[in-house]
Amino acid sequence: MDDKLMLMIPGPTPVPEQVLLALAKHPIGHRSGDFGKLMAEVTANLKWLHQTQNDVLILAASGTGAMEAGIINFLSPGDLVLVGCNGKFGDRWAEVSQAYGLTVEKITAEWGQALDPEQFRERLEADSQKQIKAVIITHSETSTGVMNDLETINRYVKAHGEALIIVDTVTSLGAYNVPMDAWGLDVVASGSQKGYMLPPGLGFVAVGPKAWEAYATAKLPRFYLDLGKYRKDAAKNTTPFTPPVNMFFALQVALRMMQAEGLENIFARHQRLTTATRAAIKALGLPLFAPDAAASPAITAVAPDRVDAEQIRSVMKKRYDIALAGGQDHLKGKIFRIGHLGFVGDRDLLAALAALEATLQELGYEGFTPGSGVAAAAKIFANS
Ligand SMILES: *Cc1c(COP(=O)(O)O)cnc(C)c1O
Repeated sequence: MDDKLMLMIPGPTPVPEQVLLALAKHPIGHRSGDFGKLMAEVTANLKWLHQTQNDVLILAASGTGAMEAGIINFLSPGDLVLVGCNGKFGDRWAEVSQAYGLTVEKITAEWGQALDPEQFRERLEADSQKQIKAVIITHSETSTGVMNDLETINRYVKAHGEALIIVDTVTSLGAYNVPMDAWGLDVVASGSQKGYMLPPGLGFVAVGPKAWEAYATAKLPRFYLDLGKYRKDAAKNTTPFTPPVNMFFALQVALRMMQAEGLENIFARHQRLTTATRAAIKALGLPLFAPDAAASPAITAVAPDRVDAEQIRSVMKKRYDIALAGGQDHLKGKIFRIGHLGFVGDRDLLAALAALEATLQELGYEGFTPGSGVAAAAKIFANS
């Protein structure tokens, strides 16, 4: 049967029908009064989502473009940056930093484990000369399903006093509490195809006052991603370059939906989906890749030992039209990942888990009692 694809990957995530329909409108001119009104509304609602009074700027870019902007606008060639690397995305921010001539020092953890905040504390405390200009952290490391302890690491950055904290919240914003102002985060980057319930195409960068101070003297080259340009034009409810206006229509609808649900409810839903997924995977006798204490609210990685991860993905796709994500880099073939981010409800998860059980049976995996995964998830739903 066609047209029943169910995305259970960590991006692109499913898109609600009202959001899809908004994309079908005629484009409007981006220098028009109507666009100005649209821009004013989405900007206000983005501030709500980020829990901030700071600027939240909108780019025609994927999440990587948003992070690149978040790094290059506030630093100068040779600046020392501390990058947390425990997965594909952390490694990517180290690569971006290197590409622009920054001096990169990595703090690493094994893929599947969380970064150790103590290592940040020690390194930052040892930096009495205040050489470290920024600490770059991936909050939810999508490649492994690991949540890093941003709140604690950020406290050590604040104690350092000089370094900015630049955060990839691509799969935590809109799933988990990331109160930008309460935590004093300097730069927060995200992308539309993750927690926003939108198609790919927009990147978002929220910028605090300390980062703007750094911007004034930062010397890395920038043009299309020069955030000062976006800030100046945002003050007039416009953008420096032609924005994807239809994506702005879609953003307007998605943010209204998020407001109607409420932040607390959104976070609780993602927590419930995470807990239910993990309970089900345990009941099926499959090893979880990330520890309970560092579980991402967006994605659960599973490292099956007695059945092939790629075969599971293949049957799930062919027979049930459910897309799961595979492993990246050295984890290819070793793990599969279940996305539960954005426009995902309890029903979606029950369907995916039932299909997973059927897939395991088809593949001859005998380590579980049929029905036990769904039952474990249902029990979580019944109690939350
Ligand atoms: C998806 C994702 C990104 C951005 O990837 P793009 O393909 O550039 O949108 C960045 N960080 C994390 C943690 C992600 O999950």
